[in-house]
Amino acid sequence: MSQPTQIVIASNNEGKLREMTALLSGLGIAVAPQSRWGVDDADETGLSFVENAIIKARHAAGLTGLPAIADDSGIELDILNGAPGIYSARYAGSDASDEDNLNLLIDRVKRTGVQRPGARFQCVMVYLRHARDPTPIIAQGTWEGHIVSEPRGDAGFGYDPVFYVPTHACTSAELQADVKNTISHRGQALRLLLEKLSAILD
Ligand code: IMP
Repeated sequence: MSQPTQIVIASNNEGKLREMTALLSGLGIAVAPQSRWGVDDADETGLSFVENAIIKARHAAGLTGLPAIADDSGIELDILNGAPGIYSARYAGSDASDEDNLNLLIDRVKRTGVQRPGARFQCVMVYLRHARDPTPIIAQGTWEGHIVSEPRGDAGFGYDPVFYVPTHACTSAELQADVKNTISHRGQALRLLLEKLSAILD
């Protein structure tokens, strides 16, 4: 890439921004969070990860006049019929904290009586060249694990303390940040997005 391209990251979530900035650093792309331009959170009115990711990117691109990258992500449990899914950030209510959401998930799992139920993180990452871009670039990542009843670890954010990663025999909150980025749903989606992007940014 000859010129650093300025791209806005359409998120105000500190945990996501840390991970996305780390994944994008050193690629010759100048990225900055939407807060630099005073952009607030978009209303996530979609019914799928991809719709919400496009809504967020369109919102940030429209208010900044810049290309935008957005992710919409969440955790799905088959025993809860896919919940919390796209509602992961607001599982315990619109103003819920990560801790509130985590406690509600632990409670709902306990009530099923199922030990260590399977779970997966999903992430859909999109790139919009501008707010009215009719052909968004889209990439998806999925990370399989299961839920433990006692939170463990201080790293990461959200549901990381209860998401057990069988390949590493620990929760995702016990992984080093760079290890999580190598294997996570977000890392997978962003690397795939960058492969697709490198063709158009060259
Ligand atoms: P949204 O994409 O902003 O709607 O929210 C995603 C929500 O899913 C976050 O607030 C977390 O609750 C959860 N989530 C997504 N990715 C992760 C992750 O890597 N670790 C833990 N929780 C996550």
